[in-house]
Amino acid sequence: MRAPVRYWLMLTDVTYSGSGGGGGDGDTCSRSTLNKVAVAVTCDPYQRVAFTHGPARALSAAQASTRAIAHDLGSAAKFTQTGETTWRYVVDLPDDPDEHDALLQHLVRLSTCGDDDPDGLYLDCCAGFAVGPHLPAATTDHDLAEYASAALSLCLRSTDRIRFAENESRAEVRDGLTLAHRLRLSSAADFPLVYQPIVRLSDRQVMGFEALLRWRPDQDVLTPDHFMEEAEASSLILDIGLMTIPVIIETFANTLAPLCASDEPFVTINLSSRQLTDPALAGYIGRTLDNFSVDPGRLWIELREDAAIQNDSSTSKVIDQLHQLGCRISIDDLGSGYSALSYIRDLPVDVLKIDRDLINQVTCDPVSAAVVDAICQMCKAVGIHIVAEGIESEDILRVLHGFGIGYGQGYLFGHPTAAAALAGRTATAG
Ligand code: C2E
Ligand code: MG
Ligand code: MG
Repeated sequence: MRAPVRYWLMLTDVTYSGSGGGGGDGDTCSRSTLNKVAVAVTCDPYQRVAFTHGPARALSAAQASTRAIAHDLGSAAKFTQTGETTWRYVVDLPDDPDEHDALLQHLVRLSTCGDDDPDGLYLDCCAGFAVGPHLPAATTDHDLAEYASAALSLCLRSTDRIRFAENESRAEVRDGLTLAHRLRLSSAADFPLVYQPIVRLSDRQVMGFEALLRWRPDQDVLTPDHFMEEAEASSLILDIGLMTIPVIIETFANTLAPLCASDEPFVTINLSSRQLTDPALAGYIGRTLDNFSVDPGRLWIELREDAAIQNDSSTSKVIDQLHQLGCRISIDDLGSGYSALSYIRDLPVDVLKIDRDLINQVTCDPVSAAVVDAICQMCKAVGIHIVAEGIESEDILRVLHGFGIGYGQGYLFGHPTAAAALAGRTATAG
């Protein structure tokens, strides 16, 4: 007979930090609010058990963990099943501050309880806590439940294991959902594109352009820092990409290519890691290039360094497909975070774009200059092209030129501009 499902809820690094702590603001702690805690829990959020042992096993492990908590808390807890592997429970808090803290500690620990059966399953679990006395705006059980769900939602986004709701949590999640909703209602016309020249540093001749997305929900034109996080989190970036990729390729064929002083002009598009999970992407790009008679080698695909580092088999398959199609693979923002550069060995990388924060330092910080120089040596050794991003001054340009960097981009040469305004310009920038 199969042994009963055992589980560890992997929340081991978290303890509740006392009344007024745990994410709540001690100064605003008010006993006039609900003296309850709502906890929203989801099991196996990253589907590790479901993938390795099957969905049925994941479900029974989640149910076993719910039963264990329900058994421990007895009639003190009111449980609501909110999804197959998610549920919420509400517990009254004692008035005595020591008992109150002890109970919260216990609830956190309950979720970390383990079992030393060597055949047991490890079950990830994320929990959002809404502690009534820390949330003056929560005046009903429904409010408290919403705060707990909001804390869980923020927890999952941040890949934390546990979150305590704060007064702003519910608005933060609602704002995100509202933004996602507005993004979903937007049409292709609401996502204009701008293009920034990429020049040859030796003579400032324009070699290609980077396509950059904007969003125009009303009068304002917003840059990606206002909407990209939500577009990625909600997967709407997939639809946005399908709308904008043909526009970029057509604009390149009709307007941008003639502006380049090169036999091999190019346009670069940015793809986020979410887009690289779409197995149909390479086929779609291939057909679109075909429709506009654009050679695939004219399209450079920019991937952020984090996407390259986190590359798993499905992502690297799409990257390989795009490379096999003939597109150039370019790694964006090199040096913006910690990286081991091992992806250069694992992925078909043609171009590295050095991040502007690193580029900005080359004239004032010898270490940054040495890092950029070392990147150049490495790229020369393995035949990878370099583009320096965010060049804003002649001094920086001189240093980069001295390092032998071929291509660059930045306000010194041109700001991102609508294609209609670029048409008719000469091929020399800046
Ligand atoms: P990125 O691909 O690294 O793009 C370069 C960013 O630096 C752009 O910001 C550009 O406007 C800005 N920039 C260029 N030259 C300079 C300079 O000299 N100084 C300074 N301070 N900034 C400069 P933008 O347009 O706000 O785009 C931000 C990021 O959003 C992009 O970073 C890219 O990661 C992402 N993104 C843009 N368009 C798309 C898209 O169509 N799809 C996806 N998935 N991501 C996109
Ligand atoms: Mg880019
Ligand atoms: Mg970049």
